Amino acid sequence: MTSANSTITDINVDALIIGGGIAGLWTLARLHQAGYKAVLLEANALGSGQTRYAQGIIHGGTKYALTGKLTASSAAVADMPARWRACYAGKGELDLTQAELLSDAHYLWSTGSLTSRLSGFFASKVMRSRSTEVKNVSLPALFQHNAFKGQLYQLDEPVFNTLSVIRAIAEPLKKTILPVAANSLQHRDHSVVVTAQSGEMYHFHYQSVLLMAGEGNEDLLLRFACRKPEMQRRALKMVVLRGGLHDLVYAHCLGASVNPRITITSHYAADGNIVWYMGGQLAEDGVHKNNADLIRAAKKELAELIPWLDLKQPQWGVLEINRAEIKKAGITRPDSFSIEQHGNIITAWPTKMALAPALADALIEKIESQHIRRSGDIEIPPWSAPEYADFPWNDPAIWEHE
Ligand SMILES: Cc1cc2nc3c(=O)[nH]c(=O)nc-3n(C[C@H](O)[C@H](O)[C@H](O)COP(=O)(O)OP(=O)(O)OC[C@H]3O[C@@H](n4cnc5c(N)ncnc54)[C@H](O)[C@@H]3O)c2cc1C
Repeated sequence: MTSANSTITDINVDALIIGGGIAGLWTLARLHQAGYKAVLLEANALGSGQTRYAQGIIHGGTKYALTGKLTASSAAVADMPARWRACYAGKGELDLTQAELLSDAHYLWSTGSLTSRLSGFFASKVMRSRSTEVKNVSLPALFQHNAFKGQLYQLDEPVFNTLSVIRAIAEPLKKTILPVAANSLQHRDHSVVVTAQSGEMYHFHYQSVLLMAGEGNEDLLLRFACRKPEMQRRALKMVVLRGGLHDLVYAHCLGASVNPRITITSHYAADGNIVWYMGGQLAEDGVHKNNADLIRAAKKELAELIPWLDLKQPQWGVLEINRAEIKKAGITRPDSFSIEQHGNIITAWPTKMALAPALADALIEKIESQHIRRSGDIEIPPWSAPEYADFPWNDPAIWEHE
């Protein structure tokens, strides 16, 4: 570290990561392990982008294999549950022993009318190794009701509290995470100048810069004068429900299309109450509905799919959020993570939180192939610690539809 003048501190780093969601943080940890000196810049709170909206399901490809054959998407995520589980057990590439596992498995259920289709699908070779049919005795509590006539399969897909993962990764690395003022970043030749949230200015000289800011990559690409890659947004309107819920549910309900009709995860709000967080086709279709219509549609879905659900004083909310990814023809979902390199500027999106480990592998490989020098210890000034985001359902303003 050298002081160029009295107001700007110069810092040399091997790699500079911009964006502190799951992808940037996982990569920061892996770069440190690989001996690179890396710093991460975050303009808001850690996890405050898509990561705090994620349902936390570490997909193993089942959802994407619903067509009955192994698609490129399902192949890309197949190893992810095992890698995340190993981290949670303290035996993996990162230490996630302090993270919270919400459920050891995610489930897939059918209503009575779709049972035969589901059996056929699960009998297929693709799925045999990845799922187990759950018989009555060990059904999760919600499905132990007499009125449940469908079938339930347990998928090898753990569900994590996403913000506990962010904290578990970031805490040991926080000296290398700088909270920066939004819109303060200026790109110079192989370097960036930023204003920290505390007001100090820093000039980072990097060998490689990784743009990993989710939706923020679009603005960063402009600042770095990169015309490629292009980004796409795919909107979702997720529904939240609270009030008198007792059951913790982690399940997709299979409908007529390849996309689950509804995907429910359960979370504890800060006041200790259970919140159901609902996505799937309900949230995809929700984009074309106003909030009142979407909530009506959610009520109808629950009444049809879980008719025995007894809701006492339910409260509803709608969360609007964009998925940010590399642009694909027809704005379709990319099969896997994406990485594009222009000189020493690398832009990356994980596409799924589950894929953060695979994305980090590919980025390390890229950095190695760029012959980035490992420059030994860097002196980091004692800047203020980053803050952590909170879950959207802890914001009273979202419960407007009571
Ligand atoms: C509703 C929903 C549910 C989902 N559920 C799942 C799921 O169950 N399982 C799964 O695998 N995936 C899921 N996903 C996808 C997953 O959330 C994303 O793929 C993942 O969180 C993206 O992580 P990221 O780190 O790339 O981006 P983000 O989490 O968006 O993080 C980007 C970070 O960059 C920061 N930033 C932005 N601009 C700047 C800047 N100029 N300077 C500094 N910092 C900046 C932001 O503040 C933010 O913290 C879901 C997505 C959505 C929307």
